[in-house]
Amino acid sequence: MASYDVIIIGSGPGGYVCAIRCAQLGLKTACVEGRETLGGTCLNIGCIPSKALLHSTELLHEAEHNFTKMGLKGKSPSVDWPQMLAYKDDVIGQNTKGVEFLFKKNKIDWLKGWGSIPEAGKVKVGDEVHEAKHIIVATGSEPSSLPGVEIDEKVVVTSEGALSLGKIPKKMVVIGAGVIGLELGSVYARLGSEVTVVEYMDTITPGMDADVQRQFQRILGKQGLTFILGAAVQGVEATKTKAKVSYKLKKDDSEATLDADVVLVSTGRKPYTDGLGLDALGVKVSDRGQIEVDDHYRTNIDGIYAIGDCIAGPMLAHKAEDEGMAVAEGVAGQHPHVNYGVIPSVIYTHPEVASVGQTEAQLKEAGHAYRAGTFQFMGNGRARANFAAEGFVKILADQATDRILGAHIIGPMAGDLIHEICVAMEFGAAAEDLARTCHAHPTYSEAVREAALAASGMGAIHA
Ligand code: FAD
Repeated sequence: MASYDVIIIGSGPGGYVCAIRCAQLGLKTACVEGRETLGGTCLNIGCIPSKALLHSTELLHEAEHNFTKMGLKGKSPSVDWPQMLAYKDDVIGQNTKGVEFLFKKNKIDWLKGWGSIPEAGKVKVGDEVHEAKHIIVATGSEPSSLPGVEIDEKVVVTSEGALSLGKIPKKMVVIGAGVIGLELGSVYARLGSEVTVVEYMDTITPGMDADVQRQFQRILGKQGLTFILGAAVQGVEATKTKAKVSYKLKKDDSEATLDADVVLVSTGRKPYTDGLGLDALGVKVSDRGQIEVDDHYRTNIDGIYAIGDCIAGPMLAHKAEDEGMAVAEGVAGQHPHVNYGVIPSVIYTHPEVASVGQTEAQLKEAGHAYRAGTFQFMGNGRARANFAAEGFVKILADQATDRILGAHIIGPMAGDLIHEICVAMEFGAAAEDLARTCHAHPTYSEAVREAALAASGMGAIHA
């Protein structure tokens, strides 16, 4: 039996970042992980592998559509699917080994195996019981499916199966037009699959800015994705090689079916806390399976904390990381704070979609008077040169104070551009502050400045 200041259960972005921060703060730290490799969903079967496939297929798309226009002629690339998967696996390996290296560097013990909490202050891994003053649960999430839909990870798959398909399907049906469905759907559309997305709501990416939703759907449509919206999936019948998806349209109750070689079920994720023994301990869990915590990530049981996808809030790696750092600093006696009003969210399609803060719909509902400034990438020289002029930046600012309340971007590098606005929001900046900041030319960031000029009422220059 070993004794620690902190044991973290789960080594995803919440858990491993927490472990490193604990160690940096001088706490004797261990992290339990049952998977063969560190890094959790994010590094093994989530953010990183999906971005590898998005990157390679985006380059393919660029080569097929824009190379000749730019005067780049010659043999166009063809797809070697096993090599593409090998590249993705190599990227995963580099990242998970990177975390292992950081654990060694920071003297964090990796307790290999599945952990449980037999009582407060104790963590059991295999036959060993370890002691810890603080136990932090960071066990993440797993895909949730629909009634009547059985996952086999070959023909009917979650994102995990979709990242390692044996071959590129001719026809793919994606159930759910959220972030994961659209990212992976666009990967396969670029690889030549006929992709149909079936969504229960009447819009794609429910909850996002309405103008972004409209333009995003139009752009993805041009890339070959077909959308069936307002449709409730009734069930999926699968054989070893094919599947049939039946759905009912909400507007007229009409029923129809779709044939597919692969069905990707991307209808959300749910917290994963199996086998921890939370029930026996009396740790409070919500109806949705989320561990209940206070502002300091403390559960109702002394010395047990929880962070990341297994508690409430957006299921995002960077949210989990921030909570990981905050809980570590709290345990070490500091007074950290996570600003949930400024957590960016990004969809890594081409073009990217990014948002932070409030939407117009939320502001209207709250009766909050605001000004919206929008700038189209069409007016941005760099975007035009790079065949990336579709999309816009929209900044929302308080009508009276000009303070930035939110931003919504669809366009090139949106996932990077959003951070300038996040920093501005953290500092309580006004749209005019961004508008009066000199931005290098020619950059995509100039579109952010132009939107800020518009939102502040000064007026965009190139609009
Ligand atoms: P996880 O990353 O889920 O890690 C939990 C770990 O705990 C796992 O490794 C698990 O094996 C381990 N574990 C569980 N129970 C036990 C136990 N009892 N004992 C030992 N170990 C245990 N987010 C983004 O921000 N950006 C993206 O681009 C993005 N892309 C995604 C793409 C896909 C396809 C998916 C599925 C998710 C994506 N996400 C993305 C979401 C992101 O992966 C999660 O929000 C993030 O991983 C949550 O981190 P976490 O630390 O809470 O849990």
